Amino acid sequence: MNAPTRPPITPRGEEKVFFDHLREHELVFQRCAGCSHAVFPLRTVCPHCSSESLDLERAAGTGTVYSFTTQHRASHPFFAADAPYTLVLVDLDGGVRVFANLVDCPPDDARIGMSVEAVFDDVEPELTLLRFRPASAAESTAEEQS
Ligand SMILES: [Zn+2]
Repeated sequence: MNAPTRPPITPRGEEKVFFDHLREHELVFQRCAGCSHAVFPLRTVCPHCSSESLDLERAAGTGTVYSFTTQHRASHPFFAADAPYTLVLVDLDGGVRVFANLVDCPPDDARIGMSVEAVFDDVEPELTLLRFRPASAAESTAEEQS
């Protein structure tokens, strides 16, 4: 039996813009020129006011875990060796909520409210995926002392 291959990711339209920026190790969202709301995922029309004037903004990549789940069974055979793995919903500093894998953190250590930072994982020459990891230990120590 052949080894399972990664399920294909074939972004189109605004989604392709997002993935193109990930390849440059940039995390982007949109800001509506009509109503100032932050918008994610990227789209052509503001979901708040229907304006088509959406400007790209680069996120700092830091945020807070809103919620998470740990997958003990992989969703696809390709990811079986990674299980258990944790998926997080992150409230990015900047005002949008994004979804990605949590890395460099044992599943039992994941917590709602934990500070995380974006990691750009170059999984293939033409494909970079967004991950999050706990914010650096140096920052955590500084926060505890303040
Ligand atoms: Zn708007």
